[in-house]
Amino acid sequence: MTFEISPPWWRTSTVRIALAVAMAFALAMLGLWRERLMRSRQVDLRAKLREHEALLQRATRDPLTGLWNRSALLDLLHQEIGNAASRVSPLAVVMIDVDHFKQVNDTYGHLAGDAVLRGLGTFLARAVRSTGHIGRYGGEELLLVMPGMPEIRPCSNVETLQKAISTLTFDIDAPNLRVTASFGVCWWQPGDGADQLIGRADAALYAAKQAGRNRVEYARCAEIDAGRIRFEK
Ligand code: GH3
Ligand code: MG
Ligand code: MG
Repeated sequence: MTFEISPPWWRTSTVRIALAVAMAFALAMLGLWRERLMRSRQVDLRAKLREHEALLQRATRDPLTGLWNRSALLDLLHQEIGNAASRVSPLAVVMIDVDHFKQVNDTYGHLAGDAVLRGLGTFLARAVRSTGHIGRYGGEELLLVMPGMPEIRPCSNVETLQKAISTLTFDIDAPNLRVTASFGVCWWQPGDGADQLIGRADAALYAAKQAGRNRVEYARCAEIDAGRIRFEK
């Protein structure tokens, strides 16, 4: 007489196979769930990054021209003054003002004036991309910070830029509209802060306006006063 003792049901091969299949299924589900979780986290992170970039853009860029706004530009200027002081390397600051800009607004309208500022911004941003920082200092006044620009008068890079402005055409229905700009240039001297640099560049710009506009003027050393260089413009 033979006996066959069957294993308990949970040890049968059918149950084992079913368990293995169920485990494989559970693992696959877990993998899928993790992947979905990671994907949704990635989407959230990308959205946050975009939000952060938009905030940064709004905080540091001028909305009309896309150039640095005044406060971001002043931060950059302070940074560059620090670099110039520690490396004793040259640093040029250029104040740019569109000539007779009020007439552009009065003749062609404010929207045309805005288009001119936008066009100028695009042109200057491209032109100085690798050599400096350009920002909107005020209404139709732009400030260019050029680290490493050797102190040479006339400065060919700046002169070329100034001349190029008068050849620009703008994205408006006024094909004959051309503008010119006046430039005031100065270089960092040991001990200068941002106010001194901007003041001298502004004084040189004023001299350019007085001399007839559409030109570059340079702040000059006027005298050496008790070891400290002073400037007349
Ligand atoms: P100057 O050659 O002496 O610089 O003369 P100007 O007419 O350029 O200078 P003024 O200071 O008399 O006029 C500046 C004008 O710039 C007046 C103002 O309405 C205009 N302006 C400032 N910001 C903007 C802007 O964002 N858009 C437009 N369309 N015009 C602006
Ligand atoms: Mg002005
Ligand atoms: Mg002006």
